[in-house]
Amino acid sequence: MIDDVNLKKEQKFNFTAVSDECIKCGKCKSVCPIFEISHDETTSPRGFIDLLGAYKRDELELDKTTKDIFESCFLCTSCTDVCPNSLPTDTIIEQIRFDIAKKFGIAWYKKAFFWLLRNRKIMDIMAKMGWVFQTCGLKINHKNQSSKFRINLPIEMIKDRTLPFADRKSFLNSYPENIINNKQQVCVPTQESGNEDKIADSEKLSKVAIFIGCIGNYAYTNIGKSLLYILEQLEIDAFIPKKQLCCGAPAYFTGDFNTVDYLIKQNIEYFETFIDDVDAIIVPEATCSAMINTDWEHFLHDQPNWLKRAKKIAPKVIMATKWLNDNTKLNELLSNKKSKNPNLKLPTITYHDPCHAKKMQGIYKEPRNLLDKNYEIHEMSDPAACCGFGGVTMQSEKYHLSKAVGKNKAKMINETNADIVSAECSACRMQITDSLERTNSDITFKNPIELIAEALK
Ligand code: SF4
Ligand code: SF4
Repeated sequence: MIDDVNLKKEQKFNFTAVSDECIKCGKCKSVCPIFEISHDETTSPRGFIDLLGAYKRDELELDKTTKDIFESCFLCTSCTDVCPNSLPTDTIIEQIRFDIAKKFGIAWYKKAFFWLLRNRKIMDIMAKMGWVFQTCGLKINHKNQSSKFRINLPIEMIKDRTLPFADRKSFLNSYPENIINNKQQVCVPTQESGNEDKIADSEKLSKVAIFIGCIGNYAYTNIGKSLLYILEQLEIDAFIPKKQLCCGAPAYFTGDFNTVDYLIKQNIEYFETFIDDVDAIIVPEATCSAMINTDWEHFLHDQPNWLKRAKKIAPKVIMATKWLNDNTKLNELLSNKKSKNPNLKLPTITYHDPCHAKKMQGIYKEPRNLLDKNYEIHEMSDPAACCGFGGVTMQSEKYHLSKAVGKNKAKMINETNADIVSAECSACRMQITDSLERTNSDITFKNPIELIAEALK
């Protein structure tokens, strides 16, 4: 993780300084998903770092070949996690993507997508239109929350592809802004007057805001619904900030820094209006959470005023399972729901650790701790191996790489014979559902928040 890096803060974004710190030990290669499929030093963390150093020293031109190389990184942070010098390969790749976007431009469909992310109201209309017309072009699979094109067009990007589909109404448009669950506030008489009631501070229940993420907002809406159900059971008030925009991750990983700048600043200004009124902003999505509490600071490293504002918000932005596990009586509630019948077979699950959860935020014990009360966990051979999602470019122009990495993940999930695979990340969900579908697997995907809500019912 970047906070552990041996480099001085200002050098973390300096390609030559990072390159100079690489001792060429090669530890990063064994965990790198792109190296695993390419077996090519140029597309390995060590190779990326070397090439980026050469580029900075003007010894290497940014041409189509180098563009292709730098776009082959999944930004999974596996290399940073094992590097003895904690070199931030992912961070410098994110920086070079900006240079690539400046020199080569951004494909029209990515530009259109990022424009929609900036304009929530238009995105709402597009999602609604998608919901109305999607059955014409898509075969919908409600069990898997997935769909496939009815006509199998010979285009790599969509051929045999399993995708999520838009729900009738987005999560943000389905609920009121404030949901009061704290119906049992404890009232005690004040010392001064026996007639006046006031809520004892120690008995005040929490209030949390929800940052839902774009895929959870438009497609996997049951995640937000389940989170609201859990908060209701815990009697914790929920605040749904209606003006939240995309965290900026898809644009950041693609190098569209204008969009990232816009989204981060809009969100910071908005979050500041309620941050002091909530205990936390909980996020049932690893990538959005890591983007807000870590990558916003990376992006704003040379804008001191905005950096200061982002830093004030970051500590309150936490993945939902982590916050629920550490701050509530959810474990107790789930234990009480445990079946007393020792012969009853619990549903089996296998848990995939999203890169942005375990490697970037150190979160992997908490979801398992909550789930193991009511589910039997069958661990896969390498739960932390990247699923191969990799961002918009990987899912479009480099989809063959995503498919190759996804195949390995699907194999290890199938080997567990679990009923369900779970991960707190909708990007992983998209990728894993697609990869499993190619193997004709019966294993379905659920976010841990959905599984916890089901267990509470
Ligand atoms: S971030 Fe992941 S894909 Fe990229 S170089 Fe590191 S290990 Fe390889
Ligand atoms: S693990 Fe770190 S120091 Fe070793 S080769 Fe990879 S980037 Fe260089």
